[in-house]
Amino acid sequence: MKAYTVPQREIPVRFSADIVVCGGGTAGVHAAIAAANEGSSVILIEQFGSLGGSAGNALVTPVMHSHIEGDPACSYVTNLLNDRMSSLGGLDSSKRVFDPLILRIASEQLCLEAGVQLLYYTFVSGVIAENGIIKGVITASKSGEYVIEGKAFVDCTGDGDLSVLAGAEYTKGNPETGKCQPISLRYTVSGVNISEFGEFISEEITRTGNGKGASYDGKTVYAACTASDDWAMTDIFKKAISAGDLIDEDKAYWQVFKLPNRKDTLAFNNPEFFEYVDGTDSVHLTKAQTDGKAAIIKQLNFYKKYMKGFENAYISEIAPMVGVRETRNITTEYVLSSDDLLGRKKFDDAFCQSNYPVDIHGKTLKCIQNITPVNDGKPWYEIPFRSLVVKGFDNLFVAGRCLGAEFLAQSSLRVQQSARSSGEAAGLGASIAVREGIKANVVDGRRVRSMMEDKGAIFKK
Ligand SMILES: Cc1cc2nc3c(=O)[nH]c(=O)nc-3n(C[C@H](O)[C@H](O)[C@H](O)COP(=O)(O)OP(=O)(O)OC[C@H]3O[C@@H](n4cnc5c(N)ncnc54)[C@H](O)[C@@H]3O)c2cc1C
Repeated sequence: MKAYTVPQREIPVRFSADIVVCGGGTAGVHAAIAAANEGSSVILIEQFGSLGGSAGNALVTPVMHSHIEGDPACSYVTNLLNDRMSSLGGLDSSKRVFDPLILRIASEQLCLEAGVQLLYYTFVSGVIAENGIIKGVITASKSGEYVIEGKAFVDCTGDGDLSVLAGAEYTKGNPETGKCQPISLRYTVSGVNISEFGEFISEEITRTGNGKGASYDGKTVYAACTASDDWAMTDIFKKAISAGDLIDEDKAYWQVFKLPNRKDTLAFNNPEFFEYVDGTDSVHLTKAQTDGKAAIIKQLNFYKKYMKGFENAYISEIAPMVGVRETRNITTEYVLSSDDLLGRKKFDDAFCQSNYPVDIHGKTLKCIQNITPVNDGKPWYEIPFRSLVVKGFDNLFVAGRCLGAEFLAQSSLRVQQSARSSGEAAGLGASIAVREGIKANVVDGRRVRSMMEDKGAIFKK
């Protein structure tokens, strides 16, 4: 590749804080609030103009159930977020289905109230590190390039950008294929006559004699299908594919449900893409946006032509952020292995418990439930605090889907419950490290866990 040598330049320091959180998404919001609530000064750097990351800007809702009885939230910040989203009318009674727009607003309100300094439209593009100690991050924005100094750093970029810029080791992609998980561009459609659409779903269930992945109870509407061809909605997709109105990829992963408090709006978890899937490559991300928009227009026409309730429907939002399931996982003091996850391993420094299945998307969906019988009466796996401590660095934590885990383990823990817990634990760990002047790998994860519990996080005993 052709290259230019850039002259050395001085980059001014614009801000300093105890803790610098990079990435204001699912994990980053929890990290920033948890750290600020401990009295640390916190700067949260985010490339978009609002918080929430995948859950906000990629429109990813609902929070997946942990598949543990009672669905305990191993996070006290989640309680704050739920209360705020409820009061803003953006969370349903299950406490899992939320309106992504309300999540953005609630996250921002909570960060500001906690005293977090927000820095939007700012991209982390470099790191100043010496002997395993991060001094500052280099950022690019309309204001130019500048350094933001900190005492501890939490990488919540989803892709581990900060850790990789600092030189941390990482893995990426399915070890069998080398490819990352598929990516999606989510959207909402408004102007839908929900009861007509719901009745259409009920009719399809009766007509096909198949109720798989579809339901309507007069209020809640849900439908899904994947490439496995045994779903209630498969038949209608097949008709559209043979008529040339859709292609096979359109039915390889399709999912729709209602959003709380939005009377005529449906949220779609598609289109999904299987080839250009590297979320760390801007060419792939661009392709997801351009191909995605074309697919969304085509899908809306399909709903109008083949389904009921879409006569006056229109696209009300297309995610500004591409939905990326997996890219890099940073090498940490402990890397959660596939065997740990499948064997439901427990750790005394665990910050999260989950029994969410292995969930590897692709043209064949791989969803493994309860693969290993568990005889300890505790059917869940745990993630240790050490999987948040970046190996080789004294003051760098990582949280969210890019924490230290093998590919198969990541396919389960990438969901929002665990991303939230990981951010909260990393934020608390960073605040302990700064307050006590200790290295990240000396922070006792058991202490972090009990701080979480003291503040209202629930763990199964
Ligand atoms: C299509 C799709 C469907 C999913 N479905 C579900 C579901 O139904 N339920 C569920 O619980 N989970 C689901 N997930 C998984 C889950 O939503 C994500 O894995 C999780 O939200 C990731 O959290 P995170 O904090 O690691 O990253 P994100 O929430 O993506 O946050 C990363 C943040 O960092 C910012 N950022 C990145 N790089 C930089 C940089 N260099 N400088 C500045 N800012 C930067 C981003 O803008 C973003 O705000 C889904 C994921 C996808 C993609």
